[in-house]
Amino acid sequence: MVSHLSQTRSIVVIGGGPAGMMATEVLIQAGVQVDLYDSMPSLGQKFLAAGKGGLNLTHAEPREQFLSNYGDRRLQLEPILDQFGPDDLCHWVHELGIETFVGTSQRVFPVGMKATPILRAWLERLRAGGVNIHVRHKWCGWRADGSLRFTIPGGESYVFADATILAMGGGSWRRLGSTGEWVQILVERGVTVARLKPSNCGFNVAWSKTFRTRYEGTPLKAVTLSFMDSKGILTCKQGEFIVTLNGVEGSLIYALSAQLRDEIETAGQAIIKLDMAPGWSKQRLIERLSQPRGSQSFANHLRKAVKIQGVKAGLLWEFVPKQKFEDPVYLADMIKELPIPLLAPRPLDEAISSAGGVAFEELNDHLMVRSLPGVFCAGEMLDWEAPTGGYLITACMASGRAAGLGVLAWLGSTQ
Ligand SMILES: Cc1cc2nc3c(=O)[nH]c(=O)nc-3n(C[C@H](O)[C@H](O)[C@H](O)COP(=O)(O)OP(=O)(O)OC[C@H]3O[C@@H](n4cnc5c(N)ncnc54)[C@H](O)[C@@H]3O)c2cc1C
Repeated sequence: MVSHLSQTRSIVVIGGGPAGMMATEVLIQAGVQVDLYDSMPSLGQKFLAAGKGGLNLTHAEPREQFLSNYGDRRLQLEPILDQFGPDDLCHWVHELGIETFVGTSQRVFPVGMKATPILRAWLERLRAGGVNIHVRHKWCGWRADGSLRFTIPGGESYVFADATILAMGGGSWRRLGSTGEWVQILVERGVTVARLKPSNCGFNVAWSKTFRTRYEGTPLKAVTLSFMDSKGILTCKQGEFIVTLNGVEGSLIYALSAQLRDEIETAGQAIIKLDMAPGWSKQRLIERLSQPRGSQSFANHLRKAVKIQGVKAGLLWEFVPKQKFEDPVYLADMIKELPIPLLAPRPLDEAISSAGGVAFEELNDHLMVRSLPGVFCAGEMLDWEAPTGGYLITACMASGRAAGLGVLAWLGSTQ
């Protein structure tokens, strides 16, 4: 039935990232002819960028813990992830001929850590399945006659589609293709789209010139961050982050970025508390700091007594008033709970991913926009967010698959 449809129906996928490619795969496996469009000269550019720091495909933790990372959107994503979850994703990668391994903190990576071999094998499989790939085609909306309008080098191109999957990503790292320009097109069509905001992002801190010059790029390792929002909800995590020219970024900051961003939006700033000596009790710090320092410089005393040096000592100089350095109790407090005010999230373009997107209320169970029959959405352009740790790629692929299956159901019901 479906292959018969394929000869008479035009199915378009817009966006060649993990979501769009997975949607395409589901469709061609069902024998449907697909035209896949992307504005860039080649597909999967953000996927490739994700592989540069070690492609974290998914996570091997228990299901409940895994799903909890989708926060408020767990409800909508759970049925989708139940159909294609971490184990399915690993199986899928293995079928492409690439092994995976479980690294530290249960994160799952392909052997070699890179995205290139996966993308290459995946594209080969899609091409073998007969997909028509159209690069340098930027979707700009619909014309009055209902056709899809693309700008192409030197002109425009128009395509009629019986079903369209939109999988154009969020709005970060614009140079890799996902510019978020689709937001305005859908809003003009009456679709509710939550504003795109930075997720897994860095934050601005008003460092002094001396501190930022000395410590830009320096990691803070094995520290604990805690953050209590204005509602009194406390989050506490251990890990590492980096001092940047303008503030802070890195995995530990990303893990708290949604709460921090939302707090700044409502309260104007977010104050994180940094424990720079997680293995030490406050009492032990006080005892060691109370020992006479003799002729030693304060920097030496800190280093020898409590092993605080480098960027950690720099942070104390940055935030502790000079006269308080002689107060062991105050100093121990600061080592255990140094308050650092975060003033603003870094711009969306610098973020790893976007929060916001097409509201789930606009979509039916097959990810079809209720007010635009035959138009489906998938991937990061939907209104959800998750920390880094493989949760992003997993949900992008799972929702791409769900949209592909949604199109098949739609074609079956409308022939
Ligand atoms: C540096 C970095 C590292 C990352 N590392 C990880 C990681 O290790 N693990 C993880 O899970 N996630 C990671 N991510 C996030 C992950 O890459 C994204 O969440 C994922 O790629 C989103 O998939 P998508 O298919 O929804 O969108 P995208 O991958 O953004 O693809 C969207 C596609 O749509 C195209 N497009 C956009 N607008 C148009 C238009 N108007 N017309 C035609 N085409 C259009 C774009 O060119 C693009 O190819 C990382 C992201 C970055 C930036």
